Amino acid sequence: MPELRRDPFTRSWVVIAPERADRPQRTGPATPRPAPAADPDCPFCPGHEQDTPAEVWRLPADRDDPAGAWAVRVVPNRYPVLAPGDRAAHHHTTGLHTRADGIGSHEVVIESPSHDWDLPDGNDTAVADILRAYRARCLALRGRRPGLVLPFRNHGAAAGTSLPHPHSQIVATPIVPLRFRQLFDVARTYYDDHGRCLYVDHTAAELADGERVVATSDGVVALTPYAASTPYETWIVPRHHQASFADAPDDILDQTAALLRRLLAALRDLLGDIPYNYALISAPNGEEATTYFAWHLQIAPRLTDPAGFELGTGIAVNPVPPEHAAAQLRQALTADAAPQPAGAQVSSRARARG
Ligand code: UDP
Ligand code: ZN
Repeated sequence: MPELRRDPFTRSWVVIAPERADRPQRTGPATPRPAPAADPDCPFCPGHEQDTPAEVWRLPADRDDPAGAWAVRVVPNRYPVLAPGDRAAHHHTTGLHTRADGIGSHEVVIESPSHDWDLPDGNDTAVADILRAYRARCLALRGRRPGLVLPFRNHGAAAGTSLPHPHSQIVATPIVPLRFRQLFDVARTYYDDHGRCLYVDHTAAELADGERVVATSDGVVALTPYAASTPYETWIVPRHHQASFADAPDDILDQTAALLRRLLAALRDLLGDIPYNYALISAPNGEEATTYFAWHLQIAPRLTDPAGFELGTGIAVNPVPPEHAAAQLRQALTADAAPQPAGAQVSSRARARG
C-alpha cells in the first residue's frame, strides 16, 4: 500500500508509492556524456577566457603560479537570472501585485579546464576545490540583507543543463524565498518546543536508526530523507551544528567533498548517467549564527516527471522508498570502495555510458 509521509523540515506531504515503479517510465541514461576533451566553441574551455566576463574568483592549477593555468574559475553569468548589483530591491505594490527590481547576482563556477570531466571522475581534492569556490563566493555575497546565496548544479538536459562543460552556479537573491521562510519557521518552532536544533536531532536520530544512512565520516553524514520527494534523493548533512556552509572549516569541507564524489559515483554506477540537480542550502543572509538551522546539500535525481497530481496538490510521488534507495546506494558505495584491478573504474564509467 502506498504511504503518505510528512517531511519534518517543511511539513509538506509526499506519497511513497513503490507500486508506481511497475508502470512504464523513463529509466537509464537520459543524456549522452560529452565526448570531446575540448570544444573550440565552448566559452568555458581554456583559451576562451575572454569570452566570459572578468572572473571574480580563481584557483590556480599551480598554487605558486596564480596567474598561470587555472583549476577552477568563477565568472559572472552572461545571461543572469538576476542582474548584478548591490542596491536594495525596493518593493512596489499596486493593488494585489508586488514587484521589485531583479538585482542580485548570478555566477558560473567553471569546475575544471577539461570539457569532458565530471565530478565522480575526479579525485576528492578536485571536488573539494569546487566546494572551496562555493564557500568563498557565499562568504563574499552574503552581505546583502535580506537575501540568500544558493550554490547549485544541474546535470543532464532533463535537469536543466544547457552547456556540457562541467560547471555549477551560484545565485544571490534580494529576497528570502518562501521555501526558506517555511524551513525557518518549522525549525524555529521545533527549537521553541525542544530547545534543540531540528537538523542536528534529525541526523542523530537517523544515525541511531541506520536504515536510511548511506555513508558517514567524522563530521558529515549522507542519508536518504524519510520523506524523499524524488527517487534516490540524498542529503549530505553536518553531524554538528553549522547554519551556513560558508562557515564550514576545511576538514568538514573536505569530508563533504569526499562523500559527494563517492555518492555521485555510486548513483552513476547504480543508475547510469542520470540527470540530477543538487543545491547547497544554508541559512539566509544574516542568520548565520542561528542555533536552530543547519546547512545541507540536497541531491535530487530527476527520474520522475511531476504531472497533474503534483501540480494540483503539491504532493510529490516517489516510487522508490528511501530505505531501499539507501540500501542500494550503500551497496554501490561498498563496491566503489573495494580494491579494484587497474582499469576497473574506466570500465564502470563505460558501462554507465552504454
Ligand atoms: N552561460 C554563460 N556564458 C556563456 C554561455 C552560457 O554565462 O557564454 C551560462 C548560461 O546562462 C547558463 C549557464 O552558463 O546559466 C549554464 O548553466 P546550465 O547549463 O547548468 O543551466 P541553465 O542555467 O542554462 O539552465
Ligand atoms: Zn568546454
